[in-house]
Amino acid sequence: MEKVFIFGHKSPDTDTIMSSLVMENLERKLGNSDVKAYRLGKPNKETEFILNYFKVEAPELLEKIEEKANVILVDHNSFAQSIDGIEKANILKVIDHHCVSGFETATPLFYYAKPVGCTATILYELYQMNNVEIEPTIAGLMLSAIISDTLLFKSPTCTKEDVEVAEKLAKIANINIEAYGMDMLKAGTDLSDFSAEELINIDSKEFDANGLKVQVAQVNTACIEDVLKGKADIENAIRKFMEANSIDLFMLAITDIINSNSQAIVLGNRLDIVEKGFNVKLEDNMAFLPGVVSRKKQIIPVIKENA
Ligand code: MG
Ligand code: MG
Ligand code: MG
Repeated sequence: MEKVFIFGHKSPDTDTIMSSLVMENLERKLGNSDVKAYRLGKPNKETEFILNYFKVEAPELLEKIEEKANVILVDHNSFAQSIDGIEKANILKVIDHHCVSGFETATPLFYYAKPVGCTATILYELYQMNNVEIEPTIAGLMLSAIISDTLLFKSPTCTKEDVEVAEKLAKIANINIEAYGMDMLKAGTDLSDFSAEELINIDSKEFDANGLKVQVAQVNTACIEDVLKGKADIENAIRKFMEANSIDLFMLAITDIINSNSQAIVLGNRLDIVEKGFNVKLEDNMAFLPGVVSRKKQIIPVIKENA
């Protein structure tokens, strides 16, 4: 069999990195030896913490893909969020938990998606379906992905299935979910050595809203005020990014993972979408969004509906 490239989305988050590694493990267990996990960008601090904790190497960086290359996508399907050239690749499988958007293939494929909080939750089900035992390290990576995507089960994207799977994985990995989860999430809030340009790219996604090119970036923090100390630099970085990528509307959600709120910094020529959608008045390009922690469930749908 020809080589198969496994990867998640650009600006990789923990689920994208872990699910790539886990999918590689599952495929190998199923006898597909010529598969390899890759990443499309730098792992964030939270991901680094997890890889160190479990002594696992980060996947190799993939910068471009050849025409007709065999690929498996995890944690995304949108071509805008995938590697450049994905349109001409041969997509064999997609394992995902996002809306289907900007995706098309020329050939039939295995597409498995569920509206759960994390790709790793779906991968757990695939291990069960295929009667493959999950090793402790792999269980640890999967558990970490679930904790990350659900913000330790506090995000509205979290389902009963995510919690049940996480508990089973914690047993296999022999991990205390609360203690480990908090350490892991806190590791991701260390933004000290990121420049403003890097900060807005840690976890950033582009999508279309009624013909508008919208970018929503998110950073996790234990203290919103700390992040706002760099507001002027952040706004400059956003303006540069918007110009370079022809973005109409940019929102940075600074998410307080302790209290489950977000402070939004919004720039662009359609601020009315955000003001109307969230019923707020932007002051100094900012608005506080109480209870908002999920880009997927609480931000993107609101922008799409009001665009
Ligand atoms: Mg993701
Ligand atoms: Mg995910
Ligand atoms: Mg995320």
